[in-house]
Parts: sequence; structure tokens; C-alpha cells
Amino acid sequence: MEARSIFRCIVKSIIFSMFLSLMFGSTGVLSQSDVIKISIYIVKGSAWDSSKGRELIRRKIVEARRIWFSNAGVKLSFSNIFATIQGKSKITDYPSGTSDEVKNLAELYKAGLRNIIIVFLDVISTPDVIAGIAIDARPRAYVDKYLVKENRPVILVSSKVLAKPGTERDLAHELGHILLRDPDHESSWSNLMNIGSNIGDKLTQGQMAKARGYWSSFKPDLRRVWKSIPASYGDIHWTEKWYGNDKKTIEISKRYWDDGVGKYIVEGKWGRAGNPKHKGEFKFEFDSPCTFSGHWWYTGSENQQQGWKGGCK
Ligand SMILES: [Zn+2]
Repeated sequence: MEARSIFRCIVKSIIFSMFLSLMFGSTGVLSQSDVIKISIYIVKGSAWDSSKGRELIRRKIVEARRIWFSNAGVKLSFSNIFATIQGKSKITDYPSGTSDEVKNLAELYKAGLRNIIIVFLDVISTPDVIAGIAIDARPRAYVDKYLVKENRPVILVSSKVLAKPGTERDLAHELGHILLRDPDHESSWSNLMNIGSNIGDKLTQGQMAKARGYWSSFKPDLRRVWKSIPASYGDIHWTEKWYGNDKKTIEISKRYWDDGVGKYIVEGKWGRAGNPKHKGEFKFEFDSPCTFSGHWWYTGSENQQQGWKGGCK
């Protein structure tokens, strides 16, 4: 390739990424520590898998970003936009037609607290068919409430809304159920979380604050004292770096969110004051802000791990 065409190619890709940033927001300016990733999939062959479908999805994304990011400061980052997935286009095609299939989707596409999955498909059966998983009575978009509880949120959007005007905000609304951890609705008609067919775009100060705390509220609070299971290991005083008694040391070396397992991971070292040979490492996986399960082992004996669970006191 000639230098000039390489240059042109670079300019083109800069312009293209600027376009993407304008449309969907750049993730570069956000702090990766608290951004919420949202993956969007279209079931191949569904009504969404068309230029009309993609255009409406694009408008839903723009509206979700405007309401949650521009207005409320909640950091959303959309990816896999317009990627198609092989799959049955009707939720009623799924063998169980219940939350098990949605759970499988969550597993397959690695839904997690930091990775909300949105699937655009043809038909979502009526709420009584998928009783217990739909928290919205209208045939537009659904959030699986069990998965929300498990912090593996999945939103399903029916193509019925393609034919209905004024559904640009349904995605922002369903995201609201997840970000606010609340299946309930507001009575004010101008509010995004009203139950009417005309979804408003307003948020209360309380809703904004709660949504901004969505991710941070999940992080385990290691400033407090935690109990161990088995109890004989004693209480863990993370900040003071000891557990059980003052001879037993514990120190965190790494803490991070693992998208692959959908858990918050804390790794570190334990030891004995005055006995440098008696030491090892641990890895704890937090599946909620107040529970972990994991393992500890002696240094050099990683294949001989023993269980260590714990919870907030
Ligand atoms: Zn709702």
C-alpha cells in the first residue's frame, strides 16, 4: 500500500471511530473501573435482522445513552452492536419456554453485573407463559428478574415493538429496572419508569443516584470485618491485615471484576507472624457484596487447595 493510501485509510478509521463515539459514546473517556458494558445481539432471521430493525435499535441505543449517560451520568458502553446470533427467533421455540433458556443465554453470552446482555428476537410469549420472569406486562421488552437477582441481567426485546410507534425508550426503561434494581414503576407520567405506553424521559434525583451506585454497590466492602466459614479460621480484618488472631496475617494483592465468571475476585497472601515458612496464598470469588467462596493453599502447593468461605458480619 502506498503511503498516501495508508494515510487516507488512517484518516478514514479516525473519522469512523469519531462517528462511532458520537453515535454510541466513546469508552475511552470513561473510567473502566465503573463502566457498565452492554452487549446487543440480534437473532439471525428475526424481524430485527433488517435495515428497519437495525434503525430502530440504533434509536433505542441513542435514547438509552441520552437518558442514562448524558442526563444521569451512568456510564454505559455498548458493544457487539448489530452482531447477529444463531438462535431460535421465538422464545416460545425454546424447549422450556422459561427462565432456564434465558439463563442459558446469560451463560452463553457471559451476562454479568458489568455485562448486560440484550437480545432482539421475534416473539416473547405472554407474561403468563414465562410467568415469574417477566416484570413488564407489555409485549415490548423483558428483564429476567431471577437473573437480575443473580446479577446476570438479560433483556429480551420482542419484534412486536417494531410495528409500534414510540418505543424508542423501552430499552432505556428496561435498563432502568436493572440499574435501579427495582421491578416497580413510578406513577409520574413524565418519568422513564412509568408503566404507561408512553414512556417519559425524566428521572428523579433518587433514581439517578441509585443508578450511579449500581456497580459500586456490588463491590464487597472490605473495610468492614468479615466472618469465615469454617468459623475456626476466625474473623477477617482486611484493612488491619489479620484474621483469627494477631499472629495470622492476611494481605490483599489484587482485586478485580472478572467478566468471564461474572464475579469480583480478591487475591492475596496469608502468613504467620514470626514464622516466615508458614505462608501461602488465597483466591476468593465474591458473587454478592456480602459473600465469597474460594480457596487457600501453601506457597508452592497450589494443587492442594482448601476451601475458605466468608460473609459480612
Ligand atoms: Zn417496566
